[in-house]
Amino acid sequence: MPFCPECQAEYTEGVAKCADCDVALVPTLPEEDLRDFVEFYASFDWLEAGRIGSILEQSGIKALIRDLASSSFPTSVGRTGAKRIAVGADKVEEATQLIKMAIVDGGISPDGRFIEKK
Ligand SMILES: [Zn+2]
Repeated sequence: MPFCPECQAEYTEGVAKCADCDVALVPTLPEEDLRDFVEFYASFDWLEAGRIGSILEQSGIKALIRDLASSSFPTSVGRTGAKRIAVGADKVEEATQLIKMAIVDGGISPDGRFIEKK
């Protein structure tokens, strides 16, 4: 599957460019970038997903924002699809606290969902 080297979204075969970043996709991401990343939060607003990514990165947590809608339906759904936020498995607790605080502060809306651990 091709990936965007900027936002690391996964796309279906045949897609050449990331719709969000306007950069050419790469065939694979380096192994260490994806290993041990856990999706822990889903947002239904792509702007908000970006804000969440910034909040996490300001705290030194590398966040991946995955657009599941565009990986299944590259042209029809686009930016209205759910985004899933992934962080390193050892950062999930910290990232969860940061998002909860940002919701209390009103920095992000309470519309997203934490993804339950299986
Ligand atoms: Zn991208």
